[in-house]
Amino acid sequence: MVGKIRFYPESFNQLSADEQREHKEKLLRQSVQYMYDHSPEYYQLRFKECGAEPGDIQTIEDLRKLPIFMDKDRERQSMEASLQKYGHPFGLHLCCDPADVVSTGGTSGTTGHPTYPYTQAWEDREYIASSVDHMHRLLGLGRGDRAFFLYPLGVYATSAVLPGLEKSGILPLPIDIRLGPQPALEMVKWTRPTFWYTGVAIVEFYIDILRNKMGIDPRDLGFKCLLLGGEAGCGIPELKKKVEDAFGCRWYDWWGPSLLNIAISCNSDDYHGLHNFAGDWDISSEDIVDPVTKEPLEIRDGVVGEMVGTHLRKKAAPYLRYATGDIVEVLTSECPACGFKGYRLKVMGRADDMITVKGVNVFAGAIHKTLQQFVPRVTGHMRVVKEDPSARLSSLVLRLEYGEGMADQLEELGKEIVQVMRSSLRISPRFEWVPPETLERPIRKPILFEKRY
Ligand SMILES: [Zn+2]
Repeated sequence: MVGKIRFYPESFNQLSADEQREHKEKLLRQSVQYMYDHSPEYYQLRFKECGAEPGDIQTIEDLRKLPIFMDKDRERQSMEASLQKYGHPFGLHLCCDPADVVSTGGTSGTTGHPTYPYTQAWEDREYIASSVDHMHRLLGLGRGDRAFFLYPLGVYATSAVLPGLEKSGILPLPIDIRLGPQPALEMVKWTRPTFWYTGVAIVEFYIDILRNKMGIDPRDLGFKCLLLGGEAGCGIPELKKKVEDAFGCRWYDWWGPSLLNIAISCNSDDYHGLHNFAGDWDISSEDIVDPVTKEPLEIRDGVVGEMVGTHLRKKAAPYLRYATGDIVEVLTSECPACGFKGYRLKVMGRADDMITVKGVNVFAGAIHKTLQQFVPRVTGHMRVVKEDPSARLSSLVLRLEYGEGMADQLEELGKEIVQVMRSSLRISPRFEWVPPETLERPIRKPILFEKRY
């Protein structure tokens, strides 16, 4: 169905690697000057604080010498300040007239006020829509297709993806997730979408509902593919196989957190990461830092660290050295499956998911991922137990659901899991076993920690 992943815009494919870099650095110089000129109360102040000027930033290396200019907390403060001073929520880093914002999307604001990282001016919306349209064409989707559009993320997915669907001539069938799974799936029977846009946790949950509550084989829905975004997912081989087998079609991961690093996985049984196809939109895969010290890490195949994003052509509320909190592994080599030559990355987890056990750093997401190879002897659901808010744990305890019929074999199973985790993650957890279906299964974001404080 899909061949090689190609860059958007199409002209970017004609450039050599050196020319691509030159093109991006030219955009970088323009973008840095634009942000400086149009955000006197945010970006100009950040430059003054560190004693730099826009003219100092000629190359990507120069960019990486700047300190971190923003993160989620500072973005929230910037938005609170603009709301107070100017009566709009887009932040002091908004670089256009607030009246020229044509689209926005907020986060839920679970830890304070919501933020609006998906704020777009007309030109931004055009670029994003065209890149989403490009993604559809890579997947062989277009006129005549119908998208079952079901998101717990609400406004964001709508604001970022719907214009792209429109551009591709695809009919969106947006369904309110609050209807509940059965009525939503009834809508599928009536409207016959050809593919599905949603999140990983929803798909897993719906497989179960389809099979066990509705007596429907997911394959009978006849989807051409699933486009799942918003969280790490098809990088877990067992999960990818389970979902693809259930629906009888390919699962593609797509990604674009805070409108940075717009990327998709390719058509392969093995997972080769998210291919960053929007070639001249931002600098993100090339700016990876140590999540603790924020010092730049050398960009080479397999480097792991926190992604920092800088927009190259965004007009509304662009980012300049924005620490995303996303921990990624960057792959710089050519994709063995599709030959894509750009950056690819694998999402490892969130910076706040990192814990240190006896001097060893490990992500809760990596523990969760490793556990999946033991399904169905475990259900795959777990929590890392934390006795206090510190990321430093004196010992690692996992609350873990065993699989059906495993209650009397837990000692042996535990030993096997420890052996694998010791060699792959350098950790030796202890387990608190619980029966299947004990742990809550949220459909918005996986819960990886149990806080006992
Ligand atoms: Zn590929």
